[in-house]
Amino acid sequence: LQNIEKYYANKGLKSYVLRHVTTTIKQGEFVSIMGPSGAGKSTLLNILGMLEEPTYGTYEFMGENVVSLNERKRIELYRNHIGFVFQAYHLIDEMTVAENIEAPLLYKKIGSAERKSRVAEMLDRFNMVAKKDLFPNQLSGGQQQLVGIARALAAQPLIILADEPTGNLQSAQALQIMELFKKLNEEENITIIQVTHSEVNAGYGSRILHLLDGVISEDLQVVV
Ligand code: ATP
Ligand code: MG
Repeated sequence: LQNIEKYYANKGLKSYVLRHVTTTIKQGEFVSIMGPSGAGKSTLLNILGMLEEPTYGTYEFMGENVVSLNERKRIELYRNHIGFVFQAYHLIDEMTVAENIEAPLLYKKIGSAERKSRVAEMLDRFNMVAKKDLFPNQLSGGQQQLVGIARALAAQPLIILADEPTGNLQSAQALQIMELFKKLNEEENITIIQVTHSEVNAGYGSRILHLLDGVISEDLQVVV
């Protein structure tokens, strides 16, 4: 990110959400974005995930200048490489666990046999085989979040973006999610960027970006 700005204009007044945000995140990093409510954390994560556009500045992802790409190229880029995990899970209520995990693979036009095998692998890995035909409202919050992560991983992303992924969970479930992120990061070199209010969660990562009023106020390496 180079000099990223985001503002909303209202009656000629600019209200800044992000200002002069410049940073580089390398493949394999595990970054936590922290800061007070309203600091711009979700906005920054959404820009990284290509869900929102900056008002100004450059975002380079895998050598591509994201802002200048056409819609089709941009969608292709994030479908192929980015997995997004939400605080409120955002599972599709009318779909079973297995169908939720399969959904992004349909968008990617992956063939039926490959889809079935990836879904089976995810169900197995997350100990959800027995729950594959249940609907989201038949699962605990922690289980729903695991399905959310399985769905993100099924598409084999290089990077996982997570906005307060444990915000709605009990601490034991939250630790399970953080252990999983750490493992994915260390063993598969998947880049993790999470927004979190929790020092404990941030302790699982390697770097903390502090946002204050839309500005990166601190950029710290986590020492263990
Ligand atoms: P929280 O910890 O509460 O989730 P956050 O750091 O994620 O906060 P953001 O959601 O990024 O904060 O919002 C940053 C600021 O941008 C807020 O002041 C918010 O009101 C403002 N904002 C977000 N979307 C819009 C919009 N569509 N129009 C105007 N202002 C907006
Ligand atoms: Mg937020």
